[in-house]
Amino acid sequence: MSILRFHAIKESLAHKPILIEEKERRSDIFGKNVFNENTMRQYLTKDAFKGVMNAVKHGKKIDRNIADQVASSMRDWALSKGVTHYTHWFQPLTGATAEKHDAFFETIGEGISVEKFGGSQLVQQEPDASSFPSGGIRNTFEARGYTAWDPTSPAFIYGTTLCIPTIFVAYTGEALDYKTPLLRALLAVDNAATEVCKYFDKNVRKVTSSLGWEQEYFLIDKALVASRPDILLTGRTLLGHSSAKGQQLDDHYFGSIPNRALNFMRDLEIECMYLGIPAKTRHNEVAPNQFELAPIYEEANLAVDHNSLLMDIMGRVASRHNFKVLLHEKPFAGVNGSGKHNNWSLSTDTGVNLLGPGKTPMSNLQFLTFFINTIKAVHENEELLRATIASAGNDHRLGANEAPPAIISVFIGEQLTKVLEELEGVTKGKLSPEEKTDLKLNVIGKIPDVLLDNTDRNRTSPFAFTGNKFEFRAVGSKANCANPMTILNTIVAKQLKDFKVEVDELIDGKGLKKDEAIFNILREYIKGLKNILFEGNGYSEAWEKEAKKRGLSNNKTTPEALKAKISKKSIALFEEMEVLSKIEMEARYEVEMEDYVNHIQIESRVLGDIARNHVVPTAVKYQNILIENVKGLKDIFEVDYKKLAKEQLVLMEEISTHIESINANVTKMTNERKKANNIQDIEKKAHAYCFNVKPLFDDIRYHCDKLELLVDDEIWPLTKYRELMFTR
Ligand code: ADP
Ligand code: MG
Repeated sequence: MSILRFHAIKESLAHKPILIEEKERRSDIFGKNVFNENTMRQYLTKDAFKGVMNAVKHGKKIDRNIADQVASSMRDWALSKGVTHYTHWFQPLTGATAEKHDAFFETIGEGISVEKFGGSQLVQQEPDASSFPSGGIRNTFEARGYTAWDPTSPAFIYGTTLCIPTIFVAYTGEALDYKTPLLRALLAVDNAATEVCKYFDKNVRKVTSSLGWEQEYFLIDKALVASRPDILLTGRTLLGHSSAKGQQLDDHYFGSIPNRALNFMRDLEIECMYLGIPAKTRHNEVAPNQFELAPIYEEANLAVDHNSLLMDIMGRVASRHNFKVLLHEKPFAGVNGSGKHNNWSLSTDTGVNLLGPGKTPMSNLQFLTFFINTIKAVHENEELLRATIASAGNDHRLGANEAPPAIISVFIGEQLTKVLEELEGVTKGKLSPEEKTDLKLNVIGKIPDVLLDNTDRNRTSPFAFTGNKFEFRAVGSKANCANPMTILNTIVAKQLKDFKVEVDELIDGKGLKKDEAIFNILREYIKGLKNILFEGNGYSEAWEKEAKKRGLSNNKTTPEALKAKISKKSIALFEEMEVLSKIEMEARYEVEMEDYVNHIQIESRVLGDIARNHVVPTAVKYQNILIENVKGLKDIFEVDYKKLAKEQLVLMEEISTHIESINANVTKMTNERKKANNIQDIEKKAHAYCFNVKPLFDDIRYHCDKLELLVDDEIWPLTKYRELMFTR
């Protein structure tokens, strides 16, 4: 094994930058492999084009005849680009993307063959779905699921395959994927927000939710990864002593990007361009070898697809550059983990960002309406929001003194806090003309200026307002954004729906003017929001205490956090908004709990293996060397040897102590795992893994890492932190 480590280091040092030249302008290649509006105009008949556009913009059904036309045009376009296969591309609950390729090629008898692709193949497919997680839905109901075309996300070509974004549902209608509930949530928020917009502008017909994600990741040399079974099998290091130099000098953050990494990024960005992913920003992150890629924000469904696609192609591009991309939330102990900020906003078909202040007092009142309703939605559903970002990987960030914490709070900055304070003082009921003028001129009229000098940059808040959008920062780097986006849009939809009812009651029942009614309701809301607003350091002990007093949840582990997904309140909410049924929610809960168990189970096995079969034998080997040394000293110096071999003797004892502790803890862990595996109930099982198996990881790691410091570097088998993180 020690040979493998040095071999890997040698190989990694030989990896040189693979130069990527850009021959064409990015704007010229952007979307070239996408069946987008532009391409459709060229390839589709007028009727077919109108049909698809109606589906995209107004959710209208596409009829069979149109589907046939679209399919044959798609095929022609794809064939012109050398494509041979097509696939329904979907996002099952495994967290990865799934595809099953079929050739266009077909035989039609008498030795004749053609390239065929009809409407029925475009619209619906039946993948062999039996091994995708379904939380029991498929077993209880139908054995089969199918994929169905989502025309709101355009088809694209990857390699020689035409990929058609689809939803994945059971024959009984239950969602088996991430996209289906997201589309339902986007519809719910569209409906609710459009109604509220009508207070301000009767012309608004549609509200769209936007998402701009920021993907963080680590790049590690492929050869080095191959020498670390833990990274290979679990995506993170399960042991390894921290490097003498870590991130304390802050010299990586926004520093110049190392050449090899830069070429990888270029290559990746070019792929993004062809696929229509508007990659815009790249930079180093805080930890060594940690980076970020962010695109220009897009409509949420498309943005989610693009992020899933990106995570997939990142790995393939990285391989060409002899890198492995680590998307895990915490690949290395002691340095920053990776997240995926979800920048979220709502905008109208009249071109107004509802979370950006406007030019007139009325448009600012509209801004405040959406701003305050969003905060209220987060407040009422903070525990649910925490649940949407729960995963075994993200627990290392959220539950473990790293920003952002497991407590959901909202940061809005000093200036907007003042605006809310002023609004809290608004008179109850009808407002005097003077008060109205004052409000419009001096409170909401000042909002644009307020935001312009809003330089607050609180980096530890899990949910922050950043000028014209909210930034959900607690999302994990590996997560499918559909999950948090579904929940966020659903809770905001519900809140806006309730708001509309309350405002209408004041207008119709109490005879208040529209703006008076809105001011009155917002004032009452603001009074209740104090507990969720927090401007301080999000991961201090003081905040944990304070948050507890405020009644905010602080669920540090996934099994505890996920529970909120199946609470009575959550089920009622999702059923009311028609986003998920009780059955679907319970199924998802089960899938996520199982996913958690599987992750910890694999990690536990790998850790046990490395500790027993790599670390302990190496320590014994080193101890034998010491024994030989001491024996030699004894032969030569006889009675005096004890003085001369003092250090060696201490070292030998220390090594024995660590070996003993490792063996005892690995045995204990294996027993706990066995016990956990015998538990049928998924909730109890997940808790057993979380509270009985996982805590032993730390003990085992501690002793292994101590041995790493004691044992001769020459024979240490596992590539060390400094080698993993500082090889360029
Ligand atoms: P940072 O938060 O790192 O300072 P930016 O604010 O420039 O960076 O943007 C981060 C991400 O937010 C980008 O993906 C960007 O496209 C996205 N974004 C910007 N404005 C909006 C908006 N109105 N709605 C959603 N996302 C947005
Ligand atoms: Mg940001």
